[in-house]
Amino acid sequence: MHPSVVVNVAMSADGKMSTRERRQVKISGAEDFARVDRLKADCDAVMVGIGTVLADDPSLTVKNPDYKRERQRSGKPEHPARVVIDSRARISPEASVLTKGDGLRVVAVSGRADPARVSVLREKATVIVAGETEVDLGRVLDELGAMCIRRLMVEGGGTLIAGMIRAGLVDEIYTFVGNIIIGGKDAPTLADGPGWIQEADFARLVLTDSIKIEDGILLHWTVKPQ
Ligand code: NAP
Repeated sequence: MHPSVVVNVAMSADGKMSTRERRQVKISGAEDFARVDRLKADCDAVMVGIGTVLADDPSLTVKNPDYKRERQRSGKPEHPARVVIDSRARISPEASVLTKGDGLRVVAVSGRADPARVSVLREKATVIVAGETEVDLGRVLDELGAMCIRRLMVEGGGTLIAGMIRAGLVDEIYTFVGNIIIGGKDAPTLADGPGWIQEADFARLVLTDSIKIEDGILLHWTVKPQ
């Protein structure tokens, strides 16, 4: 059984998630940071693409000590499982996501990953091989389901999110829209990659909530089944 999938991103008022050089930018404040930490603590796994690992080196750990204790009291590791989508096994074994905090690590690669890099990775993470060239995201979700992961948070970036939407795997999206303009036609957005041409292929959303947080707005969308 697939986990349910919630995407969470922060974007500027002009829809950009970072600069055109892919440099991480502070888009939201402390209140939204706490909301995201809560959401993360409530999920069984957090997923990012290799582009985000290479650009930001995130640890994807839960930060609030109360949430960590709460997770431990209910028999869970302090942090949700951390999942990286990385067809060529480019992740460094020293990446923060593989070295910081306890809990399960999963790296999903494809058949084109170098076997030597994969065997080094197996010392740090559970490796899923799915897909011939890019990672087959549906198969990864099947495997995560088999690992008892029921709710999965996808933190980005835009290429992975577009792949998840294209595969019809996303159930909900939180977008925090902050009060800056980053600009640049090449700056990452929520759904990068080639995009869709036919209107029939566009993902359709239902706006279920909107709430002002500090100087921005949080939108909660559900994705209509395709
Ligand atoms: P990404 O989405 O993190 O990773 C994309 C990579 O994943 C692909 O290039 C591909 O690389 C791999 N991949 C393998 N199979 C895939 C599949 N089936 N579908 C999609 N991707 C697949 O990278 P990104 O788009 O470059 O995004 C990184 C940027 O987003 C950074 O600038 C980061 O700061 C920003 N970001 C912003 C937020 C926010 O909330 N503001 C959150 C996260 C990230 P291989 O072919 O090598 O496998």
